[in-house]
Amino acid sequence: MNGRILISGTAIVCAAALLSGQGRGVESYRGPVDRIIADATSEAAAQSAWRRVAELTDRFPARLSGSTNLENAIRWSEAEMRRDGLDNVRVDPVTVPHWVRGAESAALVLPHPQALAMAGLGGSVGTAPAGLEAEAIVVGSFEELRARAASAKGRVVVFNVPFRTDRSPITSYVDAVQYRVNGASEAASLGAVASLVRSIGPGAHRTPHTGSVRYSGDAPRIPAAAISAEDTDLLQRTQDRGEKLVIRLSMGAQTLPDAQSGNVVAEIRGRERPDEVVLVSGHLDSWDLGPGAMDDAGGCIAAWEALRVLKKLALVPRRTIRVVLFTNEENGTRGGNAYRDKYADQLDRHVLMLESDNGVLPLQGWGFHGSDGARRVIGEIAGLMTAIGGTRVSTDFSGADIEPSVERGVPGISPDVDMSRYFVIHHTAADTADKITPADLGKLIAGIASMAYVTADLPEPLPR
Ligand SMILES: [Zn+2]
Repeated sequence: MNGRILISGTAIVCAAALLSGQGRGVESYRGPVDRIIADATSEAAAQSAWRRVAELTDRFPARLSGSTNLENAIRWSEAEMRRDGLDNVRVDPVTVPHWVRGAESAALVLPHPQALAMAGLGGSVGTAPAGLEAEAIVVGSFEELRARAASAKGRVVVFNVPFRTDRSPITSYVDAVQYRVNGASEAASLGAVASLVRSIGPGAHRTPHTGSVRYSGDAPRIPAAAISAEDTDLLQRTQDRGEKLVIRLSMGAQTLPDAQSGNVVAEIRGRERPDEVVLVSGHLDSWDLGPGAMDDAGGCIAAWEALRVLKKLALVPRRTIRVVLFTNEENGTRGGNAYRDKYADQLDRHVLMLESDNGVLPLQGWGFHGSDGARRVIGEIAGLMTAIGGTRVSTDFSGADIEPSVERGVPGISPDVDMSRYFVIHHTAADTADKITPADLGKLIAGIASMAYVTADLPEPLPR
């Protein structure tokens, strides 16, 4: 390295420090951040946190809104947080939708009878008790469906949109998921009697992936389900050979009256400005097919353990750090909306909101939504995390439960993790605790604890 580069490099650092006004301030947190990382990533701490993910998912699997398991998970979390000695532990009441799957099955009747691996979509109506049987057509897009509108009437429409693996998983998800969300109403508007969608994820082990369907107001509500990628390929090949497809579908799904639930909240109360809040979160609800470990028990435990690490290290920041385990992310976002409404008059004192809902996977950095000034500070904090790989800052922010508040002006942040394995098990029975490694969990906890501690302790709040 030559002197000239060194000098210009120094100048850039100083300029950034002047612009953010916090440059030297952030650097002074290197000591606490190193301590947080050393503690959270230690074998003992990472194993302990992982056991909590396992206990939550083993004891309370299938935590869908309205279920007893979700409510028991809420009570358990509340009691455990009290035992951890966190401050102001409470459950903020939220009314949530209550959809139940019931018994369900799908089968190819003609030309080659066999069962199809299926999962009804959350919010779907059921079939008549006797089920339905109809000819099916397979289409690869909404455009193809409209081009074949005449052959959709009275049929089962099968949307075959493969999940691309040659680019960012989130981009592939967004592209394909519109067929799960809107496919039923698009098909129903052309007279279809049911809608099947290829599972949104790279195919693996013939596993169907559930998720929400959304009915538009101007089309009949028809039963909607996902079928495995492998079964969708089977139907496509059969159609391509010119053979007529007949499918039988039976679904006992129904929507019951709304149920009572709640967001679990706990805090480390700030030592100087307790009314100013840095929030860290995940969502405690899951789909009903499995234990929802990656989505999102792991995110909940990561956010929660971040407070436990800080408490253990006696790091009490200037501002309050609040953990929220949201209810009903999966099929309603009622928890996130309720938080925004309940704390509406306090959102201007929320310095930063973080949600971990991208899986417990190798940390790469952060997705941030906020002002350029705040982004520079976040970049400086991320720069302290080379040991855990959390240094990059992008604009790819996500967090369904905090977005309602972020839309009101609160800076938002989400862990940026390597999601290449995420959608293989997303919303399936295979989303189990063994898919999470203690090492990845420890790093995620360290990253969240560091980000929360520094933003909660800096002399000035993040600029809006
Ligand atoms: Zn989730």
